[in-house]
Amino acid sequence: MMNASIRESALAHAKAQYPRESCGLIVVRKGKAFYFECGNLAVGTDQFAIDPKDYARADRRGVIVGVVHSHPNGSPKPSQADLVGCEASQLPWHIVGYPSGQWASITPSGYRAPLVGRQWSHGVLDCYSIIRDWYKETRSIELLDFTRRDEWWLHGEDLYQANYEKAGFVPVDEPPIEGDVLLMQVASPVPNHAAIYLGDGLILHHLQNRLSSRDVYGGYWQKNTTHILRYLGEHGLTSR
Ligand SMILES: [Zn+2]
Repeated sequence: MMNASIRESALAHAKAQYPRESCGLIVVRKGKAFYFECGNLAVGTDQFAIDPKDYARADRRGVIVGVVHSHPNGSPKPSQADLVGCEASQLPWHIVGYPSGQWASITPSGYRAPLVGRQWSHGVLDCYSIIRDWYKETRSIELLDFTRRDEWWLHGEDLYQANYEKAGFVPVDEPPIEGDVLLMQVASPVPNHAAIYLGDGLILHHLQNRLSSRDVYGGYWQKNTTHILRYLGEHGLTSR
């Protein structure tokens, strides 16, 4: 579906947005494919989030058949977040390195990011993503997902406290058991981080801008824990 004019338009867009990532969609209308520029709502220069208004506009123009974004470090190599995003979109993704002009394309192929050592990308591979992935992989449970903007906790939002009941969790007043979610408050006015308790004094978690890791649940993490949450299921609350 990529053609020379799409590549040219996308590269020009990458140049215009540099040093931020550009993003757009490939749309087919009346048998012709073209590049549709979208706004990037992500904070920072190493991420993109297509403005949903632009996505809706593209959808009205024709059929969306691909997602395009740029890598301002010059390399089109897909990140883990790109592979995850491609799976979620169920569309081919095309990446252009700027200024190299090199391209890479990926298609959905069942990719899942590793639980330990995954790269950080807000909203795609972050502290709530790893909890959802752990529940999916070890318990076959699909937890609700929530839209979250970068550093929501510094902008008056309190997403973990506002949503844990909806996602099927209740606070408990006893030591954690495997699968419990530990809410933590890390340099924030509200609980903004969460970890899975793995048993044997270990946690699995993904801190902002680090790789996800398995760590000992000791001093610092214990001290900053505000809630121990246990999963009862989305219907657990009503059937108790
Ligand atoms: Zn990327």
